[in-house]
Amino acid sequence: MRLAYAGGARKGNTGMATLFGGGLLFDGETGPHAGLGVLVDRGRILRVAPLSSFDGMDVSRVDTGGATLMPGLIDCHVHLCSSSDPGFFATILATPRERASLQVLQSARQSLRGGVTSLRDLGGFEFTEMPVRDAFREGRELGPTLVCAGKSITMTGGHAHLLSIEIDGAAAAVSAVRQNIKMGADVIKLIATGGVATAGLDPLAAHLTREELTAAVAEARRLGRRSAAHAQGAAGILNALEAGIDSIEHGFQITDELAAMMVARGTVLVPTLSAIARTLANAEGRMPPHLLEKSLRFRDMQRESFRRFLAAGGRIAMGTDAGTPFNFHGCNAQELREMTALGMSPAGALQAATSAAADLLGLADRGRIREGCAADLLLVEGDPCEDIAAVADTAHHRGVWKDGFDVHALLGRAGRTPAAPRFLAGEAPF
Ligand SMILES: [Zn+2]
Repeated sequence: MRLAYAGGARKGNTGMATLFGGGLLFDGETGPHAGLGVLVDRGRILRVAPLSSFDGMDVSRVDTGGATLMPGLIDCHVHLCSSSDPGFFATILATPRERASLQVLQSARQSLRGGVTSLRDLGGFEFTEMPVRDAFREGRELGPTLVCAGKSITMTGGHAHLLSIEIDGAAAAVSAVRQNIKMGADVIKLIATGGVATAGLDPLAAHLTREELTAAVAEARRLGRRSAAHAQGAAGILNALEAGIDSIEHGFQITDELAAMMVARGTVLVPTLSAIARTLANAEGRMPPHLLEKSLRFRDMQRESFRRFLAAGGRIAMGTDAGTPFNFHGCNAQELREMTALGMSPAGALQAATSAAADLLGLADRGRIREGCAADLLLVEGDPCEDIAAVADTAHHRGVWKDGFDVHALLGRAGRTPAAPRFLAGEAPF
């Protein structure tokens, strides 16, 4: 990662080391810890040690008194090409490519303002997210770390087929994986079942076959990529697990047997509880009827599935499905409230949104406040291990740093975006 942004040194990373201290620390795995200082230099965490050990050092200081310093949030499931409107498939398809890349940029930066310093895009539009990812990665623009899947891979006529590569057979699955990687995919997204957002399809029906999934996962792995499966019903979840998938997305129907399999294999669940929650919270009038009907039908099933997996000791990483209706980029932190409402401890939810998410995404130097890690930081009022609202509600965010850059100073806080779509006028929660 280059640290010299175009235009030279910017506020927040001027060359002088910065010491964070005075308040609490959640390090991505455990907390709250008191009495520690975190020294950041040139975008990296240089030292974590008792605050008193830094006495007399000539550094700039950020007083974290009354607040908790934690790693920036990591969202493992978003769609940056979408502006989160109710008819998002049609809206995306009608978008010129140039405008689509701009939407990706805006979505990503809005997320960053909302405390999310890394995101995994699990299904884009015509690879328009790739140049934005690269601009962030190379330090040409300030933005979150992006891990991108390119296009989802689905069966002909399967869930999300309007934006995906449609395949039939194992050979076509291999080809689709290669096409995505050719276009720059970091991870492979496979559609193992029907879905909520595609009209006429049953979320509990298996879509890609076990043979297709197995071929795709193996080819992805051979080429150094992990795989994620959109998998809601039990039959598709089983197919994805047997294929060796790294994460199950949504997971509406994780039975005791499937939970045990996932625990034994270390497969991660990315719950995306916000998707159904935001759809149902904005139900009046404008939502496509099939979306509303299926959200109502599967809400309780998904909640039970989450609780079952949690009780079984399964690994969970935070993901929101931001980009689905009214599930806005920048409000990703709301997912933490959804997870704790279903019985996850606040510290467990914080871990799911930091270190566990970094592990799933293969971001070895992010998601933890540890010497040598990137200075991706979030400072929140109070103690989120006591009250998750300190993180889940962006009004309590005191600051966000990306590779040591002060995001609120450079990009502003999460707020009403000037490019808010017309249909949202007066309604966006920012
Ligand atoms: Zn999704």
